[in-house]
This record gives sequence, structure tokens and C-alpha cells, in this order.
Amino acid sequence: MRLKTKLSISLIFLFLVIVLFGVLGVVYINILSDQSQQILKNNYESLVYSNNMLTALENIKIRKDAVQEFSDNLAKQQKNITEIGEKESTDELTRNFHELLADPEDSSNYPEIRQSIYQIEQLNEMAILRKNSVATKTAETAKLVLTIIFTILTLIAFSFIYNLPAIISDPIRTLSEGIAAIANKNYAKRIYLRQKDEFGDLAHSFNIMAGKLDEYENSNLAKIKFEKSRIETIINQMRDGIIGLDEKRHILFLNAVSEKLLGLKESDIIGKYAPDVALKNDLMRTLLQDKNSKEELKIFADNKESYFNRDVLTVQNNDQVIGQVIVLRNITLFHELNEAKTNFIATVSHELKTPISSIKMSAQLLTDERIGSLNTEQKELTYSIYDDAERLLKITSELLNMAQVETGNIQLKIQPTTPEDILKLSLHAVQFQAQQKGIELLPNIQPSLPLINVDQEKTAWVLINFITNAIKFSPEKSQIDIGIYQKEGDICFEVQDYGRGIDQKYQGRIFDKYFKVPGSHESLGGTGLGLAISKEFIESQGGTIWVKSKIGQGSSFGFSFRQTA
Ligand code: ADP
Repeated sequence: MRLKTKLSISLIFLFLVIVLFGVLGVVYINILSDQSQQILKNNYESLVYSNNMLTALENIKIRKDAVQEFSDNLAKQQKNITEIGEKESTDELTRNFHELLADPEDSSNYPEIRQSIYQIEQLNEMAILRKNSVATKTAETAKLVLTIIFTILTLIAFSFIYNLPAIISDPIRTLSEGIAAIANKNYAKRIYLRQKDEFGDLAHSFNIMAGKLDEYENSNLAKIKFEKSRIETIINQMRDGIIGLDEKRHILFLNAVSEKLLGLKESDIIGKYAPDVALKNDLMRTLLQDKNSKEELKIFADNKESYFNRDVLTVQNNDQVIGQVIVLRNITLFHELNEAKTNFIATVSHELKTPISSIKMSAQLLTDERIGSLNTEQKELTYSIYDDAERLLKITSELLNMAQVETGNIQLKIQPTTPEDILKLSLHAVQFQAQQKGIELLPNIQPSLPLINVDQEKTAWVLINFITNAIKFSPEKSQIDIGIYQKEGDICFEVQDYGRGIDQKYQGRIFDKYFKVPGSHESLGGTGLGLAISKEFIESQGGTIWVKSKIGQGSSFGFSFRQTA
């Protein structure tokens, strides 16, 4: 039955019950009222008339109006005959009264008159008693009927009070539980209501909706699972190692390469806090430390040595960091190629050094007058051969040095040296070059400097490189200051020129291999290796190297060593 019908029936029933109760009450009150009215009218009035007639009879001889009074009350009594036998008594009384009227002084029939009046009184009193008992019975019947109806209604009302809220609230509760389950993504939830009312319809619609959601969720889930496994396959087949961490550095995934490199199984460490794993795994520790380090990682795995570059990518979603991906890029191939290149350069430059030196020496010998005289043209050609040979020698020596630096084969001969010795060695090497450009070299060495523990040859090489560059980039007939001084316990060497200077934006890259300031000196030649080798030479001895320069004002290159006690 529909809920609306149920509620309507209940209300109609209540309405009918109220109407029935009211009608019954009114009917019984009317019956009781009629009965008491009849007692009053039919019997009580007859008693009053009888009493009045008795009083008038006593006064007939005393008061003249008593006869009239008797006659009036008798007339009223004659019109109020209601009981059986009352008419006969009233007729008897009428006859006796007429006899009395014929001779008012004769009081012989007074007893008959009284007797008739008493009879009338008695009949009415009896009737009052009888009617009273009828009214009492009616009242009791009314009380009983109304009590029964009241009891039944109370029971029905109580059953309504007990059942009606549950009829509405139970399905509402079940429905709201179902809605809460759906809100919690429990799409398998269904509602079973037995009733065939509006709630039943609602439950049916709810189940259809939940079914559709379930279907949608499952199809989405399948899609997501498929995409996930595809991404996992791609990640697993990559040659680079990949490790995923969440924002709290718990391990999310590891591909096959990183499993091999770390020597760990993904299933053993998934969900673990990465720093905890790092406690027992050296590689993981290295990967988590200093994520900006660009140092190559040499890893021994799978019975071979491989080289990796570490890259740490921060994963963001809507400006919020949601994790990190550590990529271990396999650079073994590049490393091997680079090594082959370095070895090749080292071999070639080493092999070239001797023949070029002999070319240089031969050219020098040719210009010697003692061997034979050359004409002017021949002399110029010989000088040109000498210059080119010297430049070639410089390049090969730089390439050789660089190869040594790259292979980590710098052989240092550390010994106590005076800064003066290093200066002298350097000035001797560059003097000729400076003279050719009319440049004045102005050394300024602080007196009584302590000895320093360095490789004299390599340190002088760096100073020579600084001065050679300074000469190269200075205008003719300018000056170059060479300062050697002590500052805060450090022994510093500084070469200041007044040439074109270096743009601020290139100063950070000036010590990189093969770097040359764009457009600065195509005509001047150079490999772009001198400063890179200088940096390696100084730093491998524990020193510091720097550049200060302002465009148009000149440059100052320097290095320093901490003075050893
Ligand atoms: P190169 O052999 O090419 O001179 P370096 O490594 O010695 O190589 O120098 C790298 C580059 O730095 C040079 O090519 C030049 O552009 C710039 N450079 C070096 N010294 C100076 C200097 N004193 N003044 C201006 N530029 C300089």
C-alpha cells in the first residue's frame, strides 16, 4: 500500500472515530436530557398540581379563591395525564370535585377527593422512580459504551503512536545508511525494503544508481589498472635505474635496473622509509645525500662496472610536492667513449711532442749564422716555422695535461718552494712574448714570504698560463701587474691586466673545459683548455683559483695556497 494511502486511511479513521465519539456522546446526553425533562414535565408537575389541590381543599371554607385555585390545578392535571390509571384517578377526582362544588359546605367527600389526589401523587411518584431508574440505566449504558469505545480508540491510537513513526523513520534510516555507504565509495551497497510504497520505489532507484556507479567504478578501475601496468612495464624496461619516493620519502616503486644496482628486491622495500633502507645500503645512502651533486657514480653490479649520473626530479601536482623520482642514468657507453677519446688524445699528443720539438729545434738551428746564412725570405719562413712549431707544442702539451687531468693521472711533485722561484720560472718563460708586444711586466712580491709546499713546475705552468693570457688580451705597450702576497695566512699569486675584461655572465664558465669567451679572440687561437687545466692543477694541490674582471677595465686571475705551518 502507498505511504500516502496509509497516512490518508489513518487520518480518515481518526476523523471517523472522533465523529463517532462525539455523536454517541451527544446522543446519550440528549436521551438523558429528554428523560429528565419528561420526569419534570409529566410527573413532577402532577405532584405540584396535587399538592396545590390539597392545599386549596384545606382552605375552601376559609378562602373564597381556594375553589378557583383547586379548579385551575385540576384543569392542569387533566391536561397532564401521562401514567396508566392516572386518567381514572383524575376522572374520579373531577367527579368528587363536582359534587363538592354542588354543595361547598358539605365536606363529606373530602376523604374521596384526598384519596384521588393521593392516588395521582402515588402514580406520579412511582413513575418518577421508574423513569429515574431508566435514566440511570441509560447513563450507565452510555458510560459503558463510551468507555469501551475510548479503550478501543486508546489502543488504536497507541498502536499508531508506536507504529507510524517507525513506518516512516525505518526506511529513511536505511536509505540514509545507504547514501552514507555510497559517499564512502562502497558502491556494492544495496537497500532491501519489503514495502511497496514510495520508500520501496526510492530503494529501487537507489539500487539502480548504486549498480551504475559500481559498473562505472569497476570499468575505471580496470582502465587505471591497465594504465598502471603499462607504465610499470615501460619503467621496468628502461635502461636507467628509476626509484620513486612519496612526499614523506617512502619508497613507491623500483624498476628492474635499480633492483640490480641496489641489490634489493622491490617487494622487500616497497613502502619502507628510504633513509631506513639507506642505513643498510650504501648506494641508497649516496643517492639520498646531496641530491644536487653531479658526480658520476661508479657501480659494480651484474659482474661489471657501470657508470651512472644521478638526477633527482621533484614531482609536483598543483604546486604541491607529492614525491621524488631518482633517475640513475646509465652513462657507461659515454664514459667508455670519453675514456677512448682521452687515451687517443694522450697518445697522439705524446707522440707529436717529440717530432714537433725537433722541428722547432731544427728551425732554430737553421736561423743560426754559424750553420749557414739564409736570405731574408728564407729567414722569415724559418721564423714562421719556429712560431708555428712552438704553438703546436703548447697545444699538444695542454692536450696532454688535460688527458692526465681527465684520467686522474696528475703526478704531483710536492716540495717546499719559495714563491720567488715560481715567479722567476714564469717570468723567464713569458719575457720574450711580452717584449714582442711592448708590454711591461711589473712583479710585486712581498718580502720574506714563507716557503710553500707545492709542485713547482705545475704551479709555474698556471702562472705562465695567466700571464700568457694577460699578454694575449692586453693592448700593446700596456702593463701587467704580478702580485705575490700573504693574506689571512694564504699565499696569493695574482695577475692583473688592463685589457678588454670578461663579461660577468661568462665568468662562471671561464674554468670549464674548451670554453672560450664568444667572439673574443678567434684570431689569437687557443684551445680553451688552459684555465681548466689550471683549476685542476691548483685544486689538486689543495689551493683555490679565482677570476675578477670588469669589461673594459681588465681582468685579474689568481690562485692561493694555505700556508702550512
Ligand atoms: P685559451 O687557450 O683559449 O686562452 P684559456 O682556458 O686559457 O684558453 O682561456 C679561456 C678563455 O678565457 C679565453 O679563450 C678567453 O676568452 C678568456 N680569457 C682568459 N684570460 C683572459 C684575460 N686575461 N682577459 C680576457 N679574457 C681572458
